[in-house]
Amino acid sequence: MSVDCIFCKIVNGAIPSKKIYEDEDIIAFHDINPSAKVHFLLVPKLHVESLANCDSQHQALLGKLLLLAPKIAKEQGLAGFKTLINTGREGGQEVFHLHVHVLGGGEKQRKTLA
Ligand code: AMP
Ligand code: ZN
Repeated sequence: MSVDCIFCKIVNGAIPSKKIYEDEDIIAFHDINPSAKVHFLLVPKLHVESLANCDSQHQALLGKLLLLAPKIAKEQGLAGFKTLINTGREGGQEVFHLHVHVLGGGEKQRKTLA
């Protein structure tokens, strides 16, 4: 838990979110500024800044995050989807708490990597 981290605040309920999934390790909620018809974030409850701050102790958690993407995407009605992990400021990361974007549905998603 990091006191100034917006995703930690969402994890502990201090900031509301449109939550679509939760277990003991991970939550998923809709992105507040969607880039596709469906755009949600998979977020570990553990505060890890980015993929570049992960090591072998996070291996199971990373696997669990990725395996949840197709499960929740299907529940959200997506037949296909994109996954995106921005890493570091120069990688487009704005929130420094590891998260996986899942985007799908409609035209807009094609532009998200441009
Ligand atoms: P990134 O650039 O990969 O760090 O992406 C951060 C994402 O978090 C952006 O797509 C934001 O729209 C999203 N975001 C920021 N604050 C919130 C919030 N309170 N609830 C939901 N999504 C958020
Ligand atoms: Zn955090």
